[in-house]
Order: sequence, then C-alpha cells, then structure tokens
Amino acid sequence: MKFAENNNQAAEYLRKAIPLMVQHNIPPNPLNYALWYTYVSDRVPELNLQLDKTLSTYGTCPTMLSEQLFREHMIKDEINGAEDIQASLISLINNLYDDAGHTAKQTADFHSVLEESLVSLQKQEDGELSLPIDSIIHALSTHTKSISETARLFQKRMQAAQGEIQALKEELNKTRQDARVDPLTNLFNRRAFDSELAQLVGNKNSHVISSFVLIDIDHFKRFNDTYGHLMGDKVLQYVGKLLKDICQEPMLPVRYGGEEFAVLMPGTTIDAAAEIAEKVREKIQAIRIKQKKSGEIISSITASFGVSQYQHGESSEQLIERTDNALYKAKDSGRNQVQRAE
Ligand code: GH3
Ligand code: MG
Ligand code: MG
Repeated sequence: MKFAENNNQAAEYLRKAIPLMVQHNIPPNPLNYALWYTYVSDRVPELNLQLDKTLSTYGTCPTMLSEQLFREHMIKDEINGAEDIQASLISLINNLYDDAGHTAKQTADFHSVLEESLVSLQKQEDGELSLPIDSIIHALSTHTKSISETARLFQKRMQAAQGEIQALKEELNKTRQDARVDPLTNLFNRRAFDSELAQLVGNKNSHVISSFVLIDIDHFKRFNDTYGHLMGDKVLQYVGKLLKDICQEPMLPVRYGGEEFAVLMPGTTIDAAAEIAEKVREKIQAIRIKQKKSGEIISSITASFGVSQYQHGESSEQLIERTDNALYKAKDSGRNQVQRAE
C-alpha cells in the first residue's frame, strides 16, 4: 500500500491516531501505527468496520487480529506476490518431473536395446541365424547417440532450474512471515501467546472476561518410547488440528511447549471455557491411530487440562501459575480430566 499524503495531512493523522491507540491499549509498533493511521485517514472503509467491531468486542485490538487486518488490508499485493512465487515453484517442479520421466523412459528403452543386441550377438556366436552384426552395431550407435543427447538436455535443464530454485528460495525467505508459528502444528507458538496475553492483561480499562486453558498430553514420553517419535509428532499435529477446529476466533490456541498446548479465550467465562476443554478432552480420548506395521489400533491418547478465568489486576505470571496448579491437580487426580483453578 502506498501513502501519498502531504506532510500536513500526515501530521494530522498522527495527531488523531496516537491518542486512539493509547486509549485502546494498542502496542505502539510500526504495524499498529500503519493500521491506525489508515483507520483515521478513512481510506479503507472495510478496515474501519472491522476495527470498530474488534474494539467493541475486546476493548482493544488483539495482536493476532491486528496482524490479520494488516495482511488483509495493507499488504494484500505483497502477499499475492508471495503466492506467485509459490506458483512458479510448483510449475518448475512439475516441469522437472516431466523431464526426469522422459529421461527415465529413454534410459529404459536403451536398456532393452542393449539386451536385445546381446541376445543377437550370442546367437551369432552360437552360429544360429540372427541379424547381421553391422545392423546390431548400427542400432546400438543410434540409441547411444539419442540417450546421450537426452542426458545432456536434462543436465542443462537441471542447471537452469538450480539457478531458478536458488532465486525463488531467496525471495521466499524474504517474504516468509513468521517466527511466531510452530512449524509442526501450524499453530501460533508460545511467543505469540505471551504477547497476546500481555496485551489482554495490560488493558486496565477493559472489563471483558477472559479465560485460559492449559493442556498437557498424558504420559507422552511413554507414548514416544512405545510407538516412536514420528508417531508422537503425528499425535501433536492431530491435537493441533483439533484445537484449531474447536477453538476458533476470537479464541487463540497455541502450541505452548513440547506436548503442551494453551488456549486464550477472550470474552469467555470459566464455565464456558471448562465446557470447551471438556469437549477437547473427549475428542483427544477418541483418537484412534492404526499402526501401519502391526495393524494395531492405538487408543490410549489422553490429556489433562487446567482452566482459569482472568482476575482483574493479576499479572500474566499469576494467571499462568494458577492455571498450572489446576493442571497439576488434574495430573495428580488420575489424568484425562479438566480441573478449574482456585
Ligand atoms: P505427564 O502425563 O506427567 O505429562 O507425562 P509425560 O510423559 O507426558 O511428561 P514428560 O514431561 O515426562 O514428557 C514429555 C514428553 O513429551 C517427553 C518428550 O519426548 C515429548 N515431546 C516433547 N516435544 C515433542 C515433540 O515435538 N515430538 C514428540 N514426538 N514428542 C515430544
Ligand atoms: Mg509436559
Ligand atoms: Mg505430558
């Protein structure tokens, strides 16, 4: 997005944007400033509508939503650029795949010509009637030429592709979004969670009720030891997907640590949060995975939950500690259950 205002106009927007950001406890970073500058300039009505809605729901604009609005309304063109890169990569890989297929077929053909020639030569040696030797040599030489031409072409294409792949890789690295997303589950990570929680907790004017859930998979070390780390990773991915499905916006599910997940639930009471946690618990308990090698159905996956409601005035650390204690209680009372914080 381009900004074409003159200095006076830009200064006017600055005077309007900053107090609004302070009033709503919006962190004063460049992304938010660009967002609120655009808001006061009134040039993207859809953005204003969505920001107004967000403010009336949360009393602030949670970082995740700011980032999403920024992506949707301010850098759409740049994102489309990244999608173009992806499309180029896919088409490059498809072309290489076709070339490799063609080369493999030529190699296989050559192999059969070699075999046939050997058989004919053997027949010659045994005195049986077969093709004359110069015709065998002619066939061999024609095919040798054609396969070496194919191999040369393929090598040339591979070299060209390597240059192209390198250039695309560099561009992708430049546009790559996030140190805030966990690559295994695609959920946001602890870092993203911490900044979101700090913003909710720091908003002293807000009286929105928020809840928080900590989830820890039971006996996961044992699971890894029994079924292998790769199978363990699959379970984590599956739980991540479950959380994404069940805990939709404005809830924020994250991978909190190794086999721990957390969900921040703005605008949700502890009763509602415990109900959602119970639903997730049941879904995890119902996971069935068939082991490829043995055919065994694994049905032993469970998780324990601590649920809390934010008490106004407490710090993030206090909230987390209370929730962690509830989780510990769930573990201590036999696991596979939801416990509320004191
Ligand atoms: P508890 O019921 O008390 O939580 O027992 P636990 O075994 O789940 O807890 P512990 O903290 O002893 O072990 C956690 C295990 O989680 C150990 C570690 O190997 C596993 N783990 C952590 N991160 C990953 C991961 O990314 N992939 C896999 N497969 N396992 C992981
Ligand atoms: Mg743990
Ligand atoms: Mg565990």
